[in-house]
Amino acid sequence: MTTHTPEINPSVPPSGTGCVECLATGSWWFHLRRCAQCGHIGCCDESLGKHASQHAHESGHPVITSFEPGEDWFYDYRNDGMFDGPVLEPPHSHPLSQPTPGPAGRVPHNWQRLLD
Ligand SMILES: [Zn+2]
Ligand SMILES: [Zn+2]
Repeated sequence: MTTHTPEINPSVPPSGTGCVECLATGSWWFHLRRCAQCGHIGCCDESLGKHASQHAHESGHPVITSFEPGEDWFYDYRNDGMFDGPVLEPPHSHPLSQPTPGPAGRVPHNWQRLLD
């Protein structure tokens, strides 16, 4: 495996159990993504905030991985490519007790219409 590039730091734990920006503003998300370089947790492009992409663009960290249970794909913004990456510092997803979308108690009942 030659995936141990500077863009991937397997020893950095995730920043938390939810999107950093959404938690700070009281918002909610659909799916979660983890920055493979610094551990930032952000929401996916189908979420209202798109904070994972925002983090990638602002920080210059080009690689994310899924933070959803059972998903282990990596994605590189530079070539729009999916690939298999190394095993990162756990946890590898948000807690199973946390719903999707999340977090509990903040998701509006009409969330599906809001994401259209
Ligand atoms: Zn977010
Ligand atoms: Zn980052």
